[in-house]
Amino acid sequence: MNKLENIKRVRIKVSGIVQGVGFRPTTYRYAHDFNLVGHVVNTPEGVTIEAQGPEKDINGFIKKLLENPPSLAKITGFNIENIEPEQNNDFVILTSYSHGYKETEISPDIATCDDCISDIFDRTNRRYLYPFTNCTNCGPRFSIIKDRPYDRKKTSMSIFTMCPDCQKEYNNPNDRRFHAQPNACPKCGPSIRLLNLKESFDDAKKIISQTVKLIKNGAIISIKSIGGFNIACDPYNKAAVNRLRIKKNRPAKAFAMMAKDMATVEKICYVSNKEREILTSRTAPIVLLRKKDNSFDHISPDNNYLGIVLPFTPLHHILFEHIDLLIMTSANKTDEPIAINDEQIFDLMKDEIVDYSLTHNRDIVNRCDDSIVQIVNNEVQVIRRARGMVPTAFNIGNTVWGDNLSMGANLKNTFSIKKNNKIYMSQHIGDLSDVRNYDYQKGEITKFLKLLDFKTDKINIDAHPGYENYNENYNKIYHHHAHALSAMAENGLLGKSVLGIICDGTGYGTDGNIWGFEFLDINKDYRKFKRSMHLKYFPLPGGEKAIDEIDRIAISISKDIKETGRIVGSKFISQERQTLINGIIDKGINCPLVSSLGRLFDGVAALCGIIQKVSYEAQAAILLQKQAENFLNNSKDKISRYNVSIDKDILDYEPMIRELIVDVNAEESIEKVAYKFHMWVVDAILAIIKKEEPAHIVFSGGCFQNSLLCKLLNEEMKKSGMKYFFNYEIPINDAGVSFGQSIL
Ligand code: ZN
Ligand code: ZN
Ligand code: FE
Repeated sequence: MNKLENIKRVRIKVSGIVQGVGFRPTTYRYAHDFNLVGHVVNTPEGVTIEAQGPEKDINGFIKKLLENPPSLAKITGFNIENIEPEQNNDFVILTSYSHGYKETEISPDIATCDDCISDIFDRTNRRYLYPFTNCTNCGPRFSIIKDRPYDRKKTSMSIFTMCPDCQKEYNNPNDRRFHAQPNACPKCGPSIRLLNLKESFDDAKKIISQTVKLIKNGAIISIKSIGGFNIACDPYNKAAVNRLRIKKNRPAKAFAMMAKDMATVEKICYVSNKEREILTSRTAPIVLLRKKDNSFDHISPDNNYLGIVLPFTPLHHILFEHIDLLIMTSANKTDEPIAINDEQIFDLMKDEIVDYSLTHNRDIVNRCDDSIVQIVNNEVQVIRRARGMVPTAFNIGNTVWGDNLSMGANLKNTFSIKKNNKIYMSQHIGDLSDVRNYDYQKGEITKFLKLLDFKTDKINIDAHPGYENYNENYNKIYHHHAHALSAMAENGLLGKSVLGIICDGTGYGTDGNIWGFEFLDINKDYRKFKRSMHLKYFPLPGGEKAIDEIDRIAISISKDIKETGRIVGSKFISQERQTLINGIIDKGINCPLVSSLGRLFDGVAALCGIIQKVSYEAQAAILLQKQAENFLNNSKDKISRYNVSIDKDILDYEPMIRELIVDVNAEESIEKVAYKFHMWVVDAILAIIKKEEPAHIVFSGGCFQNSLLCKLLNEEMKKSGMKYFFNYEIPINDAGVSFGQSIL
């Protein structure tokens, strides 16, 4: 039999996250295992393999590649075609080329792998204590890339020329660092430096011990990370923490902490299996974990949780040989983008926010803050999508409405690009009313358009005419419609009949009022929605002012509640204040109407005397959650419930507020009142659902960042037997709005 008759050649096009993850060396090894000839090459679309050999060996090779791809790869397309056999003697890796379409996905940044950690702490290794050690399984990716395909010359590593040893690893398909684009060593790669406005140290051997000494003496140090600088200080040093709070103008908001290892984490927090899994994952996000006691209440005074992240760069691992716990917060002034270069750090030094900086000379190309997640209902719920997650694409299947650029919400902004039914969501940008965040957004959009080789005339925006991105000519999408769409798309419900239940802070409604506790009927044609039910409107006296001065809301929601002819009001708010605000409401001066659950949370917190003026967004709801959790953890009493009152399409809060005020005036425990208020929200939702009996339900909106509310609602929903869904991978808060917009 003619030998050549059994020989086949196939061309395999692989797409997905297949670059920068060791795909080619794995392919190379498998091809050699089966004695195939041909080649593998990175293309702008992904990876193309040409493999030639006996049919059974080719099949074996394909099976092996599909069953055991490199651990970081994510294959979304695998296209095989038969082609004419060629004359090859070996299977080789060809160098990349960069013409044609850009389709392949860029890998997010990946936390240092165990092999690299071993290298760093091996005294005989040439990378002993080298802070820029990485390999094809770990290291910076998105944060250093300027253009595609992902090759060293298109990253911020291009200015470092590899030494012969590094080059040898880079060229060797059997090496863990084969084509690891950021490959480096102490001889040829980036280096660290410790500096302030006056002096600079570059002796790598001494810098770590100097830094540790400074931190232990109470200094505030910025540390250059993957997507930006963090500010670190000793969490045990209350004076240092206090100084940081004053300098950052952050009196109460929680700081995240980096812990040396799981043993350290478990000393201070409860950790479930699911929480351990995500903490130690290669994404390495900040995870919100329940505190074991109150010894870190000065780090997160308002809630029962600590935001914890494990070391995710070699520099962190080296530093944490000498330290067990550090505050690790974003290096910025309130609401500004996180600092990514020394100039921005010098500004923070001039304002005395930072004393010293542990920096280095590998440039950050794409700013990317730390990601934040929490475990809710035993699922990972992403609160902030950034480092380690971006720019992974979401494949949403065929949608009616085509490619677009979606600009997102004004708070917690992200933007999204939809291209060929894939949604690329940007990293967390921030509050667009700060011009520096607005500029940051514009800059990132330009970069994403280039990286994705994308152009579009279709731009989706939030319908709020006061928002930064508003433009009469763009496609306007109502805020809560976008929230609902984000949850529908994430859960595969586009085109189905869905009731969207949105519990949110602020969103512009079709009637020009501010919405936030909405029941939206969405059917097959998900372009449209019908508002079937909503929270009764109340005036927001002073408009924007009431966002901080939440006692204004307390007065507003209790204004018409009378008891035997006398206004009961709140005993925590002075009569003068009540008279003044009531006057504003009566005259209707700057009193927009709101139906927002977020604002109702604010008002209730003020009525309970928990807080009257907030220093950061959602503070009142966070405090109320803490009180309610404390009740749940300490008490097993059966409690009475607040009255749910529904009149046609309106959920009336007033009967509940009346009962709540009676409780408060009767010196009922505030923890119990807070819990009863949470249960009222759940009861109200259940009562409305029972009336409407929808086929599917989605829950979205910023109020669901309240993990207690999610938990209580989930427990009740389970009993109802209905089909319901939350956002988990897509932020349930305003960061998910751009994703929802991009559906249309
Ligand atoms: Zn590694
Ligand atoms: Zn080297
Ligand atoms: Fe929202």
